[in-house]
Amino acid sequence: MSKELVNKKSLLFCASEVYPFAKTGGLADVAHALPRALCETYDTQVVLPLYASIDKDKYSIVSLKNSFTLTLNATPYEVELYGCKHEGVEYVFIYSALLCEREYLYGTPTQGYGDNALRFAIFNHAIVELLKQKEYDFAHLNDWQSALVPLLIQQAKNIQTKTLFTIHNLAYQGVFAYEELFNIGVNSSYFNIDALEFYGKVNFMKAGIAYADAVTTVSPNYAKEILTPAFACGLEGFLSHHKNKLSGILNGIDTEHFNPSKDKLIEQTFSNLTQKLVNKKAYLKEAKLRGIKKPLFAFIGRFTDQKGVDLLIEVLEDLASQECNIVILGDGEERYQTPIKEIAQKHTNIHFEFKYNEPLSHRIYASADFLLMPSLFEPCGLNQMIAMSYGALPIVHSVGGLKDSVQNYKRFNAESQKGYGILFKTPNADSFLKALQEALKLYESKKEYNILVKHNMLCDFSWSKSAQLYKKLYEEL
Ligand code: ADP
Repeated sequence: MSKELVNKKSLLFCASEVYPFAKTGGLADVAHALPRALCETYDTQVVLPLYASIDKDKYSIVSLKNSFTLTLNATPYEVELYGCKHEGVEYVFIYSALLCEREYLYGTPTQGYGDNALRFAIFNHAIVELLKQKEYDFAHLNDWQSALVPLLIQQAKNIQTKTLFTIHNLAYQGVFAYEELFNIGVNSSYFNIDALEFYGKVNFMKAGIAYADAVTTVSPNYAKEILTPAFACGLEGFLSHHKNKLSGILNGIDTEHFNPSKDKLIEQTFSNLTQKLVNKKAYLKEAKLRGIKKPLFAFIGRFTDQKGVDLLIEVLEDLASQECNIVILGDGEERYQTPIKEIAQKHTNIHFEFKYNEPLSHRIYASADFLLMPSLFEPCGLNQMIAMSYGALPIVHSVGGLKDSVQNYKRFNAESQKGYGILFKTPNADSFLKALQEALKLYESKKEYNILVKHNMLCDFSWSKSAQLYKKLYEEL
């Protein structure tokens, strides 16, 4: 072993999804990019489930010839470890049939799988087994799917690993029926209001908050918001109780993967607006939209109420009646599909794709003039940062991480290192429409628009600053 490696502290980064292996949202992007920013400092491994959808051959994922049996509620579950190295980072995959052999990660588009408590309990216990096999200095847990680990470490009593738990979205807490308590390998004494109990049910996320050495969320503003009833989804009191160990660190984006000057997924790599126009032209053709001079508005995101899809639907016809083009790329709740489709059929300047498609999202970022993010709440949000670096001005509800990462264009300061966009304060159709009117006006005064967009493209949205903050936090644990 090299001297360097001997001196490095070790980090196990645990997530239920990691790009490019498995992704449903921003957590996968963070779990891909943050460990890359940390692996020079720490001997880092990233652990995730080996879902059936992961292509083992494509990523040269091989068996680590390390298997063990977990016994939960007197039932044995076989676990086998797999591994690979990808873009300089080491990955450990946990394979257990019940956890992995599914079409989706967490559930069908209409509901979560009924045995998710057990599935992710297996994931958490397998992580703890890794911590027993190798004494990691730090384990970084993310969201409810790995939130039991700090509790299980306490239960095991002989593991010294320090833990950091990151909340990416408090709206998903992993809440299950009381009966699940007996399936998840947790001592029933933990079923109390200071730990797992939540209105008579079992809440995985509470275990992470209660027992991790430190808790972070993905933006400073969201860290404040989640101490209030409007954003805490019932955990405001519990989080306030633990607020001394809670802080917010803004996510970054992976500037290797989301980089217009290197992006292989787009028509023409670019670092100026003339080159960007080549992408817009190609994409308009692809989407059968007309009018290169008209502003192109884009929405990319999960179809859930969180993302403000209802607001988007409310303003869509009004916006479509203006001189502009609109593209919507999203998947998720089917109830949103029909109304958007119906409106899109009436307007030739709307193009709608109900799907998840990573390369297509890159082509849209590279072509759009404005990105729409009317989220009702947004822990951090990555789209607005991706959009800014691809020269699309974000129009955002001033909430959560959007407020931290997008500055009001009216207060533009060329010296600032931060990105600019259009913010609206109240999440209703009126305010959103006003913001859209402002956008149309801004686009007419092309000079001002161009200054803002060029400024944004030069801003640093990478992980480098935030990774430093995480390192500082690990060292303080
Ligand atoms: P979330 O709440 O979904 O985690 P984020 O803004 O943190 O939201 O991250 C969303 C990520 O998923 C971004 O990389 C965005 O480009 C991508 N994304 C969302 N929906 C789609 C889609 N339908 N097709 C392709 N990429 C998508």
